[in-house]
Amino acid sequence: MIDEHSARMTTQRRVILEELRKVTSHPTADMVYKMVRKRLPRISLGTVYRNLEVLSEQGLIQKLNIGGARMRFDGNTSEHCHIRCVVCGRVDDLPEEPTVSLPELGSESGYEILGHWLELYGRCPDCRAERK
Ligand SMILES: [Zn+2]
Ligand SMILES: [Zn+2]
Repeated sequence: MIDEHSARMTTQRRVILEELRKVTSHPTADMVYKMVRKRLPRISLGTVYRNLEVLSEQGLIQKLNIGGARMRFDGNTSEHCHIRCVVCGRVDDLPEEPTVSLPELGSESGYEILGHWLELYGRCPDCRAERK
């Protein structure tokens, strides 16, 4: 993990990181672009893409590749699970971690288990309300 205060962090990259950490909506690059443009009106979408790429390579943000939908980004890099709405595509953090013991699960495979990827999907509260 690279220190976010290191000299290599450009202003643009810092603003992108700050904006991303303010929200829990797991925005797409387009959404990040709109958020960042309020503070950096001259930034381009390409620059936002590039910096999101660099930030995720540095481990400062998470890139979420959820259910074939558009790439989304998460300023929260702690291990947590996501739930995706199949109707509107919104992605939320799962409030509770499922209790699964990874070493136990993986013991049969012969692998040393380093992590897991659990994706939940359903209908979000807004989309459920619209159905009624
Ligand atoms: Zn929804
Ligand atoms: Zn998240």
